[in-house]
Amino acid sequence: MNLFAQRPLAYIFLSISLLVASNTYCSLPTIHHPGKPYTQDDEINEIYMLLTYSILYKTWQGSDSSKKVIGNNIGALLVNPTKDKILGFGRNAHSSTNNTTQHAESRLIQSYISKSECGDLTGCIIYASLEPCAMCSGMMTVSKVKETIYGETDPVCGKTLERLSLNSSELPDGYLPYPDVTISHASDCIIRKELDETQKESGIFIYKFLMNDKAKEIYERAYNLFINYNVNYEGNKAIYDNAKDFLEQELERYNSIHK
Ligand SMILES: [Zn+2]
Repeated sequence: MNLFAQRPLAYIFLSISLLVASNTYCSLPTIHHPGKPYTQDDEINEIYMLLTYSILYKTWQGSDSSKKVIGNNIGALLVNPTKDKILGFGRNAHSSTNNTTQHAESRLIQSYISKSECGDLTGCIIYASLEPCAMCSGMMTVSKVKETIYGETDPVCGKTLERLSLNSSELPDGYLPYPDVTISHASDCIIRKELDETQKESGIFIYKFLMNDKAKEIYERAYNLFINYNVNYEGNKAIYDNAKDFLEQELERYNSIHK
């Protein structure tokens, strides 16, 4: 005889408990890794990606019509090679500068190298909210950025680092790959999947989509995930705490410049 026939109330209570537990569990992981373990490094990447979305959400462009738009809602975060120190954040500023080359990644790279006088960014990582364009990909490669992880696919101008890595030398008039190209990865964060799918379904051109309320709603979810985050790896607690501090500092800096 089964449990329902023996003790129907106990069966119902147990079913509800299991349902609640499974929903709670499902809402915790924010990363899609079919068949792959969730490593400490995966979590670090997720923390920095969520931080990048969060800064943009809290400084969202275009929602306050009384304020001048600085640029598209696109940002980039620079992290040291051991991923335990945030070196800086850059945002797209093509409107306020009236300069179409003022992309988040290129501004970040130029500003950090000239400030720190380090010459290049050997081994560093850039978390970009949008897949890098040709200009920023070239600048990452030249400045020796090791890897870039992006938080939304650019269906128009993306895959430039992959194109630089392409070996077409077997073809007539083909080329060898560009040397030491920065490695590019799509973020595993569910926010990236959500942004990609929503932009595709909406049919809105990618750069307009990033100024749209549909995108803002997803960025808000990213912010909520970030501020309520509980680390899975105790060793990542300091990284998360630093990331939270960086969010506050960056917002203070932003508000002091753009009152
Ligand atoms: Zn760019």
